[in-house]
Amino acid sequence: MTTETAPVRPLPLIDDETRFFWDGTREHRLLMQYCADCKRYHHYPRPVCPGCLSSDMAPEELSGRGRVYTYTIAEQAFHPFFADRLPYVLVVVDLEEQPGLRFVSELVQCSPEEVSVGMPVEVVWEDVTEEVTLPLFKPAGSADRAVQA
Ligand SMILES: [Zn+2]
Repeated sequence: MTTETAPVRPLPLIDDETRFFWDGTREHRLLMQYCADCKRYHHYPRPVCPGCLSSDMAPEELSGRGRVYTYTIAEQAFHPFFADRLPYVLVVVDLEEQPGLRFVSELVQCSPEEVSVGMPVEVVWEDVTEEVTLPLFKPAGSADRAVQA
């Protein structure tokens, strides 16, 4: 006898270094560390600035807007959860606050035929669990459609 259950989305492991980021996403705010010494944002979270080794870094909120730097189309599911979502678009977003500040995510509400390098995008939130909200991206200015859970 088998019991079929829907595959569960793989989720991030939240630790002390990344907690501020996930606390932010839960409030639908995109936070990244900003270094008070070299005046630059850095992502991913870490204890010291990768530019100047300062530990004077604090979370700042970003607009959530940017442009597609590059993308790829996922045609295979490497985890059962993604099988029903194929094909989907994985993007690297150039965030507008700082040249070279990039974020890897999934582009939703956009078919693989519609995506292009340089396309304006904006963050959209997928509330997955009580603890985890994922920052995904969609074409900028498009009407918000329900994100597939
Ligand atoms: Zn710095």
